[in-house]
Amino acid sequence: MSLLPIITLPDPILRQKSTPVERVDDDLRRTLDDMLETMYDAPGVGLAANQVNIAKRFIVVDAGNNSDDDDTETRNPICLINPEIVSRSDTMRSCEEGCLSLPDVRVDIERPERITVRYLDRAGEPVELEAEGFLANVIQHEVDHLDGRLIIDFLSSLRRDVIVRRFKKLARQG
Ligand code: ZN
Repeated sequence: MSLLPIITLPDPILRQKSTPVERVDDDLRRTLDDMLETMYDAPGVGLAANQVNIAKRFIVVDAGNNSDDDDTETRNPICLINPEIVSRSDTMRSCEEGCLSLPDVRVDIERPERITVRYLDRAGEPVELEAEGFLANVIQHEVDHLDGRLIIDFLSSLRRDVIVRRFKKLARQG
């Protein structure tokens, strides 16, 4: 396994809509393992393929024991290939989110509290998962990435522009 470089704003791949995976094979499984290692190393709780420069629809997440205030270190990695959120609860939950592609940016985001997501697992088998709480937040954040959506899109355009300009300046300075 190896660590992959994480793409940050303003790289255009973060704004691209990723395309579906056609085949679940050993190459993909190796990439998923590398993404998990990269995510744990960062450390983060989720990573989408375009954040490591692959414009395909797969994500890895680990919301731990699915509780906000318990810090026991149980690993619970989930790999979701071609994830599709097929239902969302009316009840909402708000969470302060960060993003490995937007270092030092935190945004309060309200999202549906419970979702049902369909995906292929790393064996290529279809799975339907009901997620709630923190896990549901993380999955929605990562699926947003596959559609080119970022946490700053939940801000006013004024606040978003300030952040985008800061990242552009940082990129220019190298
Ligand atoms: Zn993110």
